[in-house]
Amino acid sequence: MTITLHDTRRGRKVPFEPLKPGEVTMYLCGPTVYNYAHIGNARPAVVFDLLARVLRRRYTLTFARNITDVDDKINQASIETGKPIAEITARFIDAYNADMGVLGVEPPSVEPRATEHIAEMIAMIETLIDNGCAYEAEGHVLFDVGSHPDYGALSKRNLREMIAGSRVEVAPYKKAAHDFVLWKPSTPELPGWDSPWGRGRPGWHIECSAMAGKHLGETIDIHAGGQDLVFPHHENEMAQSTCAHGGAPFARYWLHNGFLSINHEKMSKSLGNVLLVHDLIETVPGEVIRLALLSAHYRQPLDWSDETLDAARRMLDRLYGAVRGIDVPRAAIEKAEPPATLVAALEDDLNTPKAMAEFFAVARELNKAKDPAERQRLAAVMYASGELMGFLGEDPDAWFAGDGADGYSPEAIETLLEERQAARADRDFSRADAIRDELAAAGIVIEDGPEGTSWRRSA
Ligand code: AMP
Ligand code: ZN
Repeated sequence: MTITLHDTRRGRKVPFEPLKPGEVTMYLCGPTVYNYAHIGNARPAVVFDLLARVLRRRYTLTFARNITDVDDKINQASIETGKPIAEITARFIDAYNADMGVLGVEPPSVEPRATEHIAEMIAMIETLIDNGCAYEAEGHVLFDVGSHPDYGALSKRNLREMIAGSRVEVAPYKKAAHDFVLWKPSTPELPGWDSPWGRGRPGWHIECSAMAGKHLGETIDIHAGGQDLVFPHHENEMAQSTCAHGGAPFARYWLHNGFLSINHEKMSKSLGNVLLVHDLIETVPGEVIRLALLSAHYRQPLDWSDETLDAARRMLDRLYGAVRGIDVPRAAIEKAEPPATLVAALEDDLNTPKAMAEFFAVARELNKAKDPAERQRLAAVMYASGELMGFLGEDPDAWFAGDGADGYSPEAIETLLEERQAARADRDFSRADAIRDELAAAGIVIEDGPEGTSWRRSA
């Protein structure tokens, strides 16, 4: 079985085949560092971290996730706060990495920063001018969209229709409304670098083209980002890189995650509903947030609410509840493999809902198993699955410890009661009694009645 991925350019799922056998290059557009990342920004970071983990099982992966540390929004933040730009970007780069780390996002192979690649950007812009794809006008350099017949191929836009429907204010120095900035002049108080076109700074799109080219080569396997980046950012990256590299294809597979909304509303400053990861992790465990972000398929929209988090919390309680109390040596986990069905689901365009269902199938099997060796084997499978997906990284007792003085959350108690019910149905009364005793020892009394089993904490 090969990995299949949904490629935005082809508009369908296709078998994934890297350019070089055994090696994969992947580029993800990373954050613009002028504020903390919100929960929507975390979606691509988490989704493509999972893809990186899945790819690493089969290939040597070089994964670049950039940092946009020169941008007009950063300049604006500096003006508003009176803080130097370098202080703002350093602070939010650290915060981004720390926050994503809490969500189980592993560091990429390289994390290139735009400000450290200005020479590469200038060189690429010079090549674009030499190749007839870009022109200089009044201290600006613009990409000549008309020179690139394929423009619109990624976002399925027709340039002529775009021009007809355009309401873009046309700057006088532009040849055509859709020509976009590669380089623009800076005033003395703005960040700037010397260039053949005077002191200035790069446009956003050229940053990614130059960094991808430097770290991953002319043709990369996978280019990823949020859906909002398809146009214009990725369309423009593709046009620039293709022209600068003499027609060599830029990205062989384009992957885009769907958008996250909050209580069915777009997240926005004006609505005051921007949820920062930095704040959320104060009260919610990282794995709960990670699972909530992976609970929908990555290309689908994801609506975020308290229920999304509650559901993720309950799911993790079930997983931790299943492995709790089973001592699994590290060597056994290293030898264990996640179930083939779980891996197959992830390799099928990252089908996380299916993968989680397969995860729970193992948990159910484990809850039913009685033989200690079999229970240990299944627990090792659980941990191996957790390592692949970024879950079960905590000690199960510690996981439940935060929930009430006795260390049992209501969800954990419900899970144990379900397990006890299953044991009784299997006539495994010693297991059923062991669960009752375990809860009793924690001061939780269970009562069987005609309506089912209820529980309460004894005073
Ligand atoms: P930015 O820092 O705004 O460039 O965004 C960083 C990443 O987050 C990009 O890949 C965006 O596509 C993605 N992104 C921003 N908002 C959302 C959202 N509400 N849902 C999903 N992804 C988002
Ligand atoms: Zn980018």
